[in-house]
Amino acid sequence: MDENSFDIAIIGGGVIGVACALELARRGASVAVLERDRIGHACSFGNAGWLTPSLARPLAAPGQVRRALPWLLDGESPFYIKPRLSLSLARWLLGFALSGRDWDRFERNTRALVELCNFSTDAWEELSERSDRSFGYARRGMLSVYESQAGFDEGRRLAAMCEPFGVPYEVLSAEQVRAREPVIKGRQVGAIFYPRDAQCEPDRAVLALAEDARAAGVTLYEDAEVLDVQRRAGTVHSVQTTRGTYRADQFVLAAGAWSGQLGRAFALRVPILGAKGYSFLLPKLDRHPGCSIFLAERKIGINPHDEVLRLAGTLEIVGLDLSVNMRRVRAIAKGAAGMLAIADPARQVRLWRGLRPCTPDGMPMIGRAGGYENLWLATGHQMTGLKTAPGTGRLLAELMTGQPPSFDPEPFRADRYARRR
Ligand SMILES: Cc1cc2nc3c(=O)[nH]c(=O)nc-3n(C[C@H](O)[C@H](O)[C@H](O)COP(=O)(O)OP(=O)(O)OC[C@H]3O[C@@H](n4cnc5c(N)ncnc54)[C@H](O)[C@@H]3O)c2cc1C
Repeated sequence: MDENSFDIAIIGGGVIGVACALELARRGASVAVLERDRIGHACSFGNAGWLTPSLARPLAAPGQVRRALPWLLDGESPFYIKPRLSLSLARWLLGFALSGRDWDRFERNTRALVELCNFSTDAWEELSERSDRSFGYARRGMLSVYESQAGFDEGRRLAAMCEPFGVPYEVLSAEQVRAREPVIKGRQVGAIFYPRDAQCEPDRAVLALAEDARAAGVTLYEDAEVLDVQRRAGTVHSVQTTRGTYRADQFVLAAGAWSGQLGRAFALRVPILGAKGYSFLLPKLDRHPGCSIFLAERKIGINPHDEVLRLAGTLEIVGLDLSVNMRRVRAIAKGAAGMLAIADPARQVRLWRGLRPCTPDGMPMIGRAGGYENLWLATGHQMTGLKTAPGTGRLLAELMTGQPPSFDPEPFRADRYARRR
C-alpha cells in the first residue's frame, strides 16, 4: 500500500477527529489524521475541561434569543455578535432563532446530547484508569449557582427535564451553597448540584486520547493542512495538503470551526460559525473549590485543578477571528471575582482563546455528508466537544462500518443542511 493511502483519512486533529480515529482503528481500519497545526491545539486545548451531562444541551434553547438580545449591546456581556452582517451570518442567526422556538425539539436534542455525554464521561473515566498519561480526570460534580429567582426557576426546570435522561441533581438553598463551598460569596438565591458531572485538564486529555489512538494504529500527521480536494463522480478521491497528497476510501471532515470554510472545497454547505471564548488560569485559592462551579447568569465556568483554577467564558459569534478582546477577558475575571473570594483576579496566566464550532440548531453534525458516498462529517460540537467526543467517535464509526448505532443518529444527521452545489 502507498504510504499516503489509507482506508480512512480524517481532516482535523482536535478531540473530535482523534476520538473518531480511535474508534475506526479499533474496528480494523487503517486511519490517518491530517492536522494543520499540532494535535489538539485548537479549540480542544484550553476549554473549561468540563465533562458535564448537566450542560449537554443545544445553545439554541427556547427563550435564549430573547435573553441574548440586550447582551448584544453590552461589551462585557457573555454573548456577543461581531457587528458585520453577512449572508451566512444572517442565515445562521435565522436558523438559531427558529431552532430556539420549539421546546419539544429542544428536549429531544438535549436528550440525544446527554446520552452521548453520559457514555463519553464513562469513556474518559475508563481512559484515565488505564492511560499512563494523567489528565486530571475527577468526578467531583458541578454546582450551578443562581443570583436571580428567574434564573433559579429556569435552572430547576432544565434540571427536572434532564433527570430522566440520567442526570441526577440536588437543589441547595443559598445557606447550603455557602456551607458547601465557602469560596462563594455575594448574593445567591440558590444552586443546583450535579453529582455525576466530571472534570479534567482538556489539553492533557486530548493528548492521552491521541496516545491511545496511536497505540491502536492511527497515524497522526501534524503540519498537514488540507488545501484542496480532488473529487470524482460523487466521491472524494484524494486531498492535497502541505505535506503532499493523501488518498483514502473514505474521508471524515472534523475541522471544528474551520469545517464551514473547508466544506466549500468539497462543494458542501456546512453552516458552522466560530463562537470565540476565553479561558485562563489563576493561582490556587486559599479556599479552593472542591467541585466545578457554573455562575449561571454570568455564564462563567470554573474548574478547580489541583494546583490552579481555570476560568472560562464568553461566547462571541465572530466567524474565524481569533483576536483577543481584553475587555471581555477582564469581564470574566471581574464577573468571577464578584461571586468568588479571589484575592487578585487580574493575575491571569495562560490566557487562551478558542473557536467553538457552532451550527444554527446547536447540534453536532455526525454522519454521511449529503451528496457523497464516501465523505462523512463529525463537527459542529459547539460547547460540548470534549464531553461528547468518545460518543461521537463511537457513533460515527458505527455508521461508517454499518454496525447498529448505539445512539439515535437522527438528531445528529450531517445532511440536514446539505445541498450539493
Ligand atoms: C471557552 C470555551 C470553553 C469550553 N468548555 C468546554 C467544556 O468545558 N466542555 C466541552 O465539552 N466543551 C467545551 N468547549 C467546546 C469544545 O472546546 C469544542 O466543542 C471542541 O474542542 C471542538 O473540538 P473539534 O475537534 O471539533 O475542534 P478543534 O479542537 O478546533 O479541532 C479542529 C482541528 O481541525 C484543524 N484544521 C482546521 N483546518 C484544517 C485544515 N485545512 N487541514 C487540516 N486540519 C485543519 C485545526 O487546526 C484543529 O486542530 C469550550 C469551548 C470554549 C471556547
